Amino acid sequence: MNTSLTLDSLIRTRLAEITEGLWNDHRVLRVESSDARFLQIGSAATIERWQCQANHGSGLCGEPLVSSTEAGLLLGSPDYPAVESPVYGLIEYRELDTNFGFMAGELVHFSDVVAEFEAQG
Ligand SMILES: [Zn+2]
Repeated sequence: MNTSLTLDSLIRTRLAEITEGLWNDHRVLRVESSDARFLQIGSAATIERWQCQANHGSGLCGEPLVSSTEAGLLLGSPDYPAVESPVYGLIEYRELDTNFGFMAGELVHFSDVVAEFEAQG
């Protein structure tokens, strides 16, 4: 039995479950790197990895979602939470971190991060 291969497929299965769960629970879509948008605030930037496909009452959202960690980096503040009171709330999720394994985190709408940035300015 090839242990690393088994672990690899286990991780892939888990990632697929996470992606499916986020879609079923929150209409959050995983964005392929080839389709990802470049998200910039001030001089900081990140790449879109998740997108909201929910309808908050006025049609399909379509906004990029960033993790709380990414939001902190974009806002230049390691404070937690980076966005105090996001309009669309925080979406809990889990992801695979190359250093720490599966980590729990939250996703926040990019517009909420932009609003926080403007409030700081
Ligand atoms: Zn949304």
